[in-house]
Amino acid sequence: MQEENKRQRIAILGSTGSIGTQTLDVVRAYPELFEVEMLAAHTNWEALARQAEEFEPDCVVIADDAFYAPLSAALAHLPVKVYAGTDAAAMSVASTSVDTVVSAMVGFAGLAPTLAAIRAGKKIALANKETLVVAGELVMGEAKQYNAPVIPVDSEHSAIFQCLVGEASSSVRRLVLTASGGAFRDIPAAELETVTAADALKHPCWEMGRKITVDCATMMNKGFEVIEARWLFDLPAERIDVAVHPQSAVHSFVEFADGAFKAQMGVPDMRLPIQYALTFPYRLPVKGATAFEPSLCGGLTFEAVDGVKYPCLGLAYDVLRGDYGKGGACVMNAANEVAVAEFLEGRIRFTDIYRVIRRALETVPQAAPQTLEDYVSLDAAARDTVRGRILGSFLNS
Ligand code: NDP
Repeated sequence: MQEENKRQRIAILGSTGSIGTQTLDVVRAYPELFEVEMLAAHTNWEALARQAEEFEPDCVVIADDAFYAPLSAALAHLPVKVYAGTDAAAMSVASTSVDTVVSAMVGFAGLAPTLAAIRAGKKIALANKETLVVAGELVMGEAKQYNAPVIPVDSEHSAIFQCLVGEASSSVRRLVLTASGGAFRDIPAAELETVTAADALKHPCWEMGRKITVDCATMMNKGFEVIEARWLFDLPAERIDVAVHPQSAVHSFVEFADGAFKAQMGVPDMRLPIQYALTFPYRLPVKGATAFEPSLCGGLTFEAVDGVKYPCLGLAYDVLRGDYGKGGACVMNAANEVAVAEFLEGRIRFTDIYRVIRRALETVPQAAPQTLEDYVSLDAAARDTVRGRILGSFLNS
C-alpha cells in the first residue's frame, strides 16, 4: 500500500479536538502505516503534552504562546521541538518530513496553515471546512498549482468523493448533501427563541466539537458544506441540494446524467472518513468501529429543509450565488464564529446567530479578496464590525 518500510508521516492541526483525537485513534490502530510528525493545538497544552508523550512527534505547536513554558517543561525529557504562536503551525507543516497534513483546527485559524501545507505540496486530509468556505477559490487554485491533493474528511464530502471514484466529472448532474437536522430537528421554529447552549450541544447522531455542533443546530454547517462542495467538486450552487435525513445512515448522494443515484452509507463514526482520507485509494478495516447493519436502520427518510426554521442555509446559498460579493463567505464565516461564541457564553439568543450574520453581510463593505492577506484583513474587519456595531443590539435582549 505504501512504499516498503516507509510510514506515512502525519501532521495534525488541531490534534486535541474531536477530529484530531480520532485521527490519533486511526494512527494508534495502524502504527505500521502511520507515524506522527507534528501536533498542533490552541490552548490545551496538557492534552498536547500527553499526545506528544505517546506519539513522540518531531515537533508540537501551541498557538497561544502563554502556554509555551508549561508545555516545554512537560516535554523537556523528550527530543520534541516545541514552538508557540499563531504563525508557528503554518511554518511547521511545510517541513519536508511531513507527507500528509490533517487540517482539523476549528474556524478561520485553519486557513493559513492549510494553505502553507498546500504551498509545500503536502497531501491534505481536510476537515476544517472554514478553509474552503472562506477562500475556496484561492485554496483550490493553489492546490492545483502546487499539486497538493485535497481529500475531504467531512463525512458528506467523503461520501461524495467515494461515489465519484471511477466516474467522469461530466457525468455528474447533482449532489445531494444529507443533514441530520441537528439538535432542534423535532422542535418547532417558534420555540427556538428560548433554547439554550446546553440544548444546542445535544446532537442526535454525532459527537463533535462545540462550534460545529451549534452550526449543525442552525444548519449554518450545512450551508458551509454546500460552499465546501462547490469548491471541492467544482459545481455551481444550483447543482448542490440538501435533504434532511434523520437516521444519518446515508452520508450523501450523487445523481448522474442517466438518472442513476449513488449513495455512500455507514455508521456515524468520523474514524471512517478520516481513515479513508489517509489510506485512499485503499480501504482497511476501521478498528473499533461498529459494523453497519442496514436492517437495523428502521427505515430511511428524506425531507426538504424547512427554510423558515433554518434561515442560515438560505443565506449560504445567497452568498454562494454572489449576492454579497466575492468576500461574502468570509464575512459570513467571521460573523458566525463571533455569534456562536457569544451564544455559547449565553450572551445572545440562538435565533440571534442568523440575525447577526445577516446584519454583518449587510454592513461590512463588499470586498473582492484575492490573497491570504486580503482574507485575513476582511476576516478581522468583519469581526470588528460585528463586535463594535452589531452585537450590542442583541446582547442580553
Ligand atoms: P474541536 O473544537 O473539537 O477541536 C478544535 C481543535 O482546533 C482543537 O485541537 C483546538 O485546540 C484547535 N484550535 C482551535 N482554535 C485554534 C487556533 N486559533 N489555533 C490553533 N488551533 C486551534 O473541533 P472539531 O474537531 O469538532 O472540528 C474541527 C474542524 O473539523 C472544524 O472545522 C469542523 O467544522 C470540522 N469537522 C468536524 C467534524 C467532527 O465530527 N467533529 C465533522 C466534520 C468536520 P485546543 O484543544 O487547544 O482548543
